[in-house]
Amino acid sequence: MTRVATYDAIVIGGGVMGCAAALRLAEAGMRVILVEAATLGGGASGANAGTLSLQIKRLALIPYALRGLERWQALGSRVGYRKTGGLTLAFTQDEAALLAERMALKQAAGAPVTMLARSAIAAHEPGVSNAVVAASWCAEDGYADSTKTGLTYRSLLQAAGADIAENQPVQQIDENGGWTVVADALRVHAPRLLMAAGAWTVPLAKQIGLDPDIRVRVNTVTVTERMPPIVATVVGHATGLLTLKQKPNGTVLIGGGWQGRGSPGTGGTIDQANLITNLQLATHAVPALRTARALRSWTGFEAHTPDFMPLAGEISGRPGLFMLAAVRGGYTIGPYIGELMGDAMLGRQVELPLYDPSRTFEAAA
Ligand SMILES: Cc1cc2nc3c(=O)[nH]c(=O)nc-3n(C[C@H](O)[C@H](O)[C@H](O)COP(=O)(O)OP(=O)(O)OC[C@H]3O[C@@H](n4cnc5c(N)ncnc54)[C@H](O)[C@@H]3O)c2cc1C
Repeated sequence: MTRVATYDAIVIGGGVMGCAAALRLAEAGMRVILVEAATLGGGASGANAGTLSLQIKRLALIPYALRGLERWQALGSRVGYRKTGGLTLAFTQDEAALLAERMALKQAAGAPVTMLARSAIAAHEPGVSNAVVAASWCAEDGYADSTKTGLTYRSLLQAAGADIAENQPVQQIDENGGWTVVADALRVHAPRLLMAAGAWTVPLAKQIGLDPDIRVRVNTVTVTERMPPIVATVVGHATGLLTLKQKPNGTVLIGGGWQGRGSPGTGGTIDQANLITNLQLATHAVPALRTARALRSWTGFEAHTPDFMPLAGEISGRPGLFMLAAVRGGYTIGPYIGELMGDAMLGRQVELPLYDPSRTFEAAA
């Protein structure tokens, strides 16, 4: 059966970006439908490590991340939010110098990060290795439980009156005095359309003749069995190649962007060599992890652009067509930049600038 309906706005993609934008629109009184190929939070937004850290954000995005953190904090226990503080570790003098330099820039950009004296590190986190020579600290860092993203946004969207169509991969988009979107059991039309399909944005955009330069990373995350308390904060490494936190149930989640294999079209698999290096770095940072058994490792797809800046805004020359994708550290930033996107679609003044997606079309041409 094919439903035919008219809305004020259609959002494609039920990750944190699409959900947050759709929520903003619905809360402002628009008739919105969110169309999702699988289930809400079934993409990167439900597979990620959930780290909410200002220390691993690009400088230009720190103002967005600060506001994103406030949104996660407001969602609180519904998304398993915890403010634990975060440490980034250096094991050599070279790493320490790199860390100090980077953190000074982040501090200047508004992140409340400080370098700790060697003697102060154990007081913040007794679980880290004695091999640490320096560390930075951010009291605002923490984590959320990414597996709760879809459930939480589903109930928020329903409460705001948005329609949600899950298990509806969009197959066709037509520009005909607005935008008509066709999926298996769905045909909807609206003057505004947001493409928020994460690592799957390129095939979607190609349906309307756009070819954004989006690249995809295949990130790996591992969860251990339940452990006695071994680490209380979010722990990272100066290279950015480690994130680690212990959940309230005792399991430890280990990430850091180590690459798996595969593609958004075919699915992802673990690269064993990369996984082992990831786990070795984790056990080097927190020695008590050496006795832990890894229960499961998985991959997820993270989109990014050549300049590592988001695609967020209206497409030039295509009135009513918007894109929001490829936001690095997008789980942290998502709830906020999704709101901004919603504001742009509502014709409101945006609090912080968006990032014109058209710049990547030119690069791709
Ligand atoms: C393994 C991993 C770990 C990460 N760790 C962190 C972290 O610790 N902290 C952090 O801040 N960020 C992290 N990130 C990045 C973060 O997860 C992403 O930036 C963010 O979730 C992207 O959200 P999104 O809504 O753009 O994409 P997604 O969550 O991928 O959502 C896109 C949605 O679009 C849907 N879709 C695709 N094609 C179609 C179609 N044709 N029709 C309808 N729907 C479609 C998909 O099914 C999907 O649900 C990580 C990413 C990965 C992959």
